[in-house]
Amino acid sequence: MAEETIFSKIIRREIPADILYQDELVTAFRDIQPKAPTHILIIPNHLIPTVNDVKASDEKALGRMMTVAAKLADEAGIAEDGYRLIMNCNKHGGQEVFHIHMHLLGGDFMGPLVS
Ligand code: 5GP
Repeated sequence: MAEETIFSKIIRREIPADILYQDELVTAFRDIQPKAPTHILIIPNHLIPTVNDVKASDEKALGRMMTVAAKLADEAGIAEDGYRLIMNCNKHGGQEVFHIHMHLLGGDFMGPLVS
């Protein structure tokens, strides 16, 4: 059984977070240490530790993460200029919180990921 992270407490509103969106499948909130003018984390409400743990039964929540990302980018006014969606996996991916999350980053030109 995977261990809960701080993100489960955010979902249950047991600790403060700037929650921008929540429904029965996903929650989205501002990153506490933003790396871009807009930096939002979008997470499934149920615990999936890493992308390696994703199952077919998670597809509905994962799909919702995408539609919520597009909606929040639009609301933040960054959709037309563009933005970056990132999911880090394990050590080499730089994952620090083991409850999968999509980073929505935008509001500035970020350049190519690899050059
Ligand atoms: P990772 O490196 O795992 O992909 O990203 C984890 C992200 O979670 C980091 O960008 C970090 O700033 C953010 N984070 C960690 N703890 C908290 C928290 O308690 N509240 C919020 N809002 N963000 C957090």
